[in-house]
Amino acid sequence: MKFYSLNKEAEDVSFKDAVIKGIAPDRGLYFPREIKPLPPAFFENIENLTDHDIAFKAIEQFVRESIPENTLKEILNSVLDFPFPLIELEKNVATLELFHGPTLAFKDVGARFMAHCLGYFSENQNSEVTVLVATSGDTGGAVANGFLGVKGVKVVILYPSDKVSDIQERQLTTLGQNITALEVNGNFDDCQNMVKTAFLDSDLKSEMQLTSANSINVARWLPQMFYFLFAYKKLKNKDQPIVFSVPSGNFGNICAGMVAQKLGMPVAHFIAATNVNDTVPLYMRTQEYSPKTSKATISNAMDVGDPSNFIRIRNLYKNNFTELKNILSSYSFTDEETKRAMHSIYDSSNYIADPHGAVGYLGLKEYLKDNSDTFGVFLETAHPVKFLDVVEETLKLKLPIPYQIQKVLEKKKVSIKIDTYEELKNYLLNK
Ligand SMILES: *Cc1c(COP(=O)(O)O)cnc(C)c1O
Repeated sequence: MKFYSLNKEAEDVSFKDAVIKGIAPDRGLYFPREIKPLPPAFFENIENLTDHDIAFKAIEQFVRESIPENTLKEILNSVLDFPFPLIELEKNVATLELFHGPTLAFKDVGARFMAHCLGYFSENQNSEVTVLVATSGDTGGAVANGFLGVKGVKVVILYPSDKVSDIQERQLTTLGQNITALEVNGNFDDCQNMVKTAFLDSDLKSEMQLTSANSINVARWLPQMFYFLFAYKKLKNKDQPIVFSVPSGNFGNICAGMVAQKLGMPVAHFIAATNVNDTVPLYMRTQEYSPKTSKATISNAMDVGDPSNFIRIRNLYKNNFTELKNILSSYSFTDEETKRAMHSIYDSSNYIADPHGAVGYLGLKEYLKDNSDTFGVFLETAHPVKFLDVVEETLKLKLPIPYQIQKVLEKKKVSIKIDTYEELKNYLLNK
């Protein structure tokens, strides 16, 4: 299985090269040449498979050429070592909790999978790979944790000084070893611009192998399809059509769900729920895609004005708008609506949703208004404690601090402050 660039001006590459390069030389996103459906028996007997078996069968065709079977199984065993509970909250409404990983973010699965793949690829190589990543919060922690101690891989994380929460900052800055945190005097866009500049810098390219660890990278994006399959396994016996509502920012997670559908998973519809950063909901209404600068919201991991994976979604449906509209609905919600939803979920089900999950819930409820015969799952992408202030203030309660967070609160922050791109470049070249 080869991967091609969606800009179509670069050569096809193996999974390995797609992971190491991150993005194609023509700046396009890599996409699998084909997606072969799994045999119907896979879905008919899915309840007899373990999560590890399901994940192996789902991802094998994409990575087979680059990772031997046993290695892939070992990787999946260590990546998927926490549960993905599905909890029914109301009639026809369940939540799929994706936040039980080491940093309590759903990005843990993709980050760990990518880390293990890169670790394997660099085993027999002398040269080191440098992962450069800009974060506005959750990505950095998941990436830092996933890559910690992986041989042959050095991780450099850029984050905006004073603009991430205390917990998030500690998750990035307290690990040491092969992880370095650069604290940028600026905002998230400044961090991201520095990273983009670095990828285009020929001085750096000739000195080192740089790659990205956001959902542009196929190794971070594709494993997210596991979540949907794990949920399907538990829902298979419902005699109602199943729909998924996904709180979306860069649209990597929902796009991976759509790949699971292309593998043959019986699912009736997807709902992309966003905050006021509504580029995709607008597109689904008008067929016009107009990226915007992002606006700050309480569901800040979804503050994205130009979702990088939406082009992959369009491609999955061959850029046919009618086909896409049959499978995808998209709605946007304000912070006020989100807080009200957190309240009503708590009042009716005694369940504490984080702001991202609440946006997913709202999207699902909107869809169910006209489709009351369906069973809906909304994805809960972060543990409420990661958005402590908003959750405690909105619901007027105190959250217990889980062990994973307690652990980092005791450690000492270590970061290198930088102001300019030149400083980043010098840092990278001196190492
Ligand atoms: C990253 C993130 C999202 C958005 O996921 P995409 O794949 O970018 O759409 C949603 N919720 C949380 C908590 C996140 O960290």
